[in-house]
Amino acid sequence: MDRVKVNGKFFKKQIDREAIKKEIKRLAAEIDRDMAGSNPLVICVMTGAMFFAADLLREVSTECEITSVRLKSYEGTGSTGHVSIGGMLKRSEIEGRNLLIVEDIVDTGLSLSSFVSELEESAPASIRIAALLSKPDARKYRVKTDYLAFEIPNLFVVGYGLDYDGYGRGLKEIYILDDNQL
Ligand code: 5GP
Repeated sequence: MDRVKVNGKFFKKQIDREAIKKEIKRLAAEIDRDMAGSNPLVICVMTGAMFFAADLLREVSTECEITSVRLKSYEGTGSTGHVSIGGMLKRSEIEGRNLLIVEDIVDTGLSLSSFVSELEESAPASIRIAALLSKPDARKYRVKTDYLAFEIPNLFVVGYGLDYDGYGRGLKEIYILDDNQL
């Protein structure tokens, strides 16, 4: 499907399955190269990163512990400017650990920069970030993505875990808002 309707809006295909698979293999190899033997604690940012994390972490060979948090800053197709963290980890779970955050998309950077500051309070040994998508033109807060699959234009996307008000996450590929809504 090259064009889909999600929750009343039209989206067109931007990134297909094969490209996603290829990038995930590349990122997994880089993570193994950098993190092998460091007993990483992987923090999957729900709900958007669920499919990306599931596919990525099955390609990673490094033994790692996997957990999740919920970050929410978006409503509809825009950022609310405020981040809420659900299910934050305890200091004892973070202190001295090599963390790998797995996130769906870095947009303004607000969510990840807030989350990284919060984690830093608990003195981890290191923090790395793996992100599926980045919109560099939307950035307002500094975020260092160590492992990034794709840069995209500053337009709203759905699919492969990303939603439009809860819908569209199950799409196998990544779709971008169609400027033609007819
Ligand atoms: P930031 O805090 O970097 O502005 O935004 C990060 C969060 O906003 C992402 O984790 C994601 O939940 C949501 N987000 C940002 N851009 C998009 C987008 O284009 N599509 C969807 N579905 N969510 C987005």
